[in-house]
Amino acid sequence: MKKKIAILGSTGSIGKSLINILKKDSNKIQISLLTTNTNYKELLKQANFFKVKNIIITNKKCFLIVKKSLNNKRFNIYNNFSSIPEIFKNINIDYTMSAISGFAGLDPTLRMIKFTKEIAIANKESIICGWGLIKDQLSKYKTEFIPVDSEHFSIWSLISSTKNNYIDKVYITASGGPFKDRPLNTFQSIIPRDALKHPNWVMGKKISIDSATMMNKVFEIIEAKKIFNFNYNQLQILIHSQSYIHAIIKFSNGLTKMLIHDTDMTIPIFNSLYHKSDKKIKSNKINLPILNNLSLTNVEIKRFPVVKIIDLLPSKDSLFETILVSANDTLVDLFLNKQIKFTDISKQLLKIVKMKEFKVYKSKYPKDIREITKLANYVSLKIHSMSI
Ligand code: NDP
Ligand code: MG
Repeated sequence: MKKKIAILGSTGSIGKSLINILKKDSNKIQISLLTTNTNYKELLKQANFFKVKNIIITNKKCFLIVKKSLNNKRFNIYNNFSSIPEIFKNINIDYTMSAISGFAGLDPTLRMIKFTKEIAIANKESIICGWGLIKDQLSKYKTEFIPVDSEHFSIWSLISSTKNNYIDKVYITASGGPFKDRPLNTFQSIIPRDALKHPNWVMGKKISIDSATMMNKVFEIIEAKKIFNFNYNQLQILIHSQSYIHAIIKFSNGLTKMLIHDTDMTIPIFNSLYHKSDKKIKSNKINLPILNNLSLTNVEIKRFPVVKIIDLLPSKDSLFETILVSANDTLVDLFLNKQIKFTDISKQLLKIVKMKEFKVYKSKYPKDIREITKLANYVSLKIHSMSI
């Protein structure tokens, strides 16, 4: 039987990598759903190639363009994620990839869990802000979860059924981004083009800026804590410019394991899809020059001040994480639109997380998605009203 697949965010960087993997196996899979926000041209190419029946285009204008131009019955075209229950009324999915960027990913991720046997989640915001809600759905519908972010996929692969109290420390690596060696006194003149040039990974814009500030690793520490139920003091970031090692785990039995793979998201994505099969992927030989010159160092706080935020995080799931994600999203947008400087991102984030108004959310558990979305919108408006 063909493996039934749904891809949320199929036109993004992660989505397209998955599509490329699936193209090599197209006679053994059936894609039941593809989604995009605006990139309907790419979506239609994918939908035609895989003969996909259902597509969601969330941007109203784009949805209407496609709806008007395709008056045949080839696709069922929907405009929002509330159609998911209708689409999957009579279909059970084997594997879903959640790869929408930003808060928009949480709602469809929660909706899909009911209809899929496995869900691979790349969307960080879902995990950081809505992990409690996701976990409830996963256990309610007995859906298996696989993390896609390379560090979390590595931890997941390394620990399998190990108990958390048998793990002394988990190190996740950071490349250091484009400004690892840039003189600190030139940070004021950084422009979006400089910050988007990631030395190792090809990724969407938002996550590229987060890599340049190191906020991406702050988020990954939160993700790791939530997914694997670690304490923050079990987790540490190491700068590793070669991005060859993705996670290192020191166990309580004296063993240390680490996971290495090429700097290519195709590898965790492929393994999230085929982790139960013996399917093979073409990959490079082990890189001895890198292994012989491994470099792993602590994070330089002056260069990446946002890492100080880790010490301010609450130990239990809370709405404070939503404030952090929304504040960062808004500041990154302002920077990309050249309305604030690169250095303002970390300066303002550190200011916002210490604001009394927001600190109270450290003890508030997110009850539902509406509460998360409402707070995220409020934080964004508040930042726009602040004079930065
Ligand atoms: P991209 O920006 O490349 O793609 C995002 C996808 O989501 C696109 O399909 C986009 O549609 C869709 N989308 C964006 N906004 C909305 C919205 N409001 N409503 C509906 N759909 C929307 O992101 P990435 O692929 O880089 O990342 C996806 C997620 O995975 C992010 O959360 C990121 O943090 C995480 N991640 C990414 C990694 C990477 O290497 N790229 C590594 C680890 C995690 P459209 O094409 O129309 O814009
Ligand atoms: Mg990562």
